[in-house]
Amino acid sequence: MHIKTATFVVSNQDVSKCPKNNFPEYAFIGRSNVGKSSLINMLTNQKKLAKTSGRPGKTQLINHFLINEQWYLVDLPGYGYARVSKSSKKTFQKFITSYFQQRKQLVSAFVLIDIRHEPQQIDLNFMQWLGEHQIPFSIIFTKSDKLKPKAIERNILHYQSVLSEKWDELPQHFITSSTKFDGKEELLNYIDSINLSIKNTKSQFD
Ligand code: GDP
Repeated sequence: MHIKTATFVVSNQDVSKCPKNNFPEYAFIGRSNVGKSSLINMLTNQKKLAKTSGRPGKTQLINHFLINEQWYLVDLPGYGYARVSKSSKKTFQKFITSYFQQRKQLVSAFVLIDIRHEPQQIDLNFMQWLGEHQIPFSIIFTKSDKLKPKAIERNILHYQSVLSEKWDELPQHFITSSTKFDGKEELLNYIDSINLSIKNTKSQFD
């Protein structure tokens, strides 16, 4: 898939104020600084669509971007930023959990993981929560340009072995680098294939 248009639609903290139309949507989430904004800008061929975080944890909003006038890319706030106060952590949890539990248009989430790091409990807990709520997700490993191919392979195998302690079936994963544009095509083709299958299933029942 080639992204021809990517337009900012709305930001809010309230799932009931998200766009009303029925475009399929894909939510991107991860720890602050994981490279989410860079990835979104890379995917959409834009420099500043998603704001790279000068002050991580500051923007706590659900951001909807309409892609090719067909689907929404949803940029969710980064989690796990130590300097955010307890009360704003609670608000964060509330509107994010409401988003995941209530948003019918959500097709899949992408959980971003920095490929250089040991599996972090906060990410594992979040994936566990998604699983318990039957929310489909894939993992996007970011910043792959920072490691050599052997180290990438080793870290992914390690990540998978940690996941397999809790999961019978491992989630699909993508390996990306926003500086090298790696993984872009795979990720967009994956989204495209899901969009197509949704369209086909729908037309069968129309
Ligand atoms: P966010 O907080 O998750 O939105 O993360 P950002 O996109 O703002 O990125 C955090 C930092 O990581 C910035 O300094 C980026 O330049 C850097 N970064 C993000 N993605 C990559 C990548 O793929 N490769 C490299 N080398 N650096 C990256």
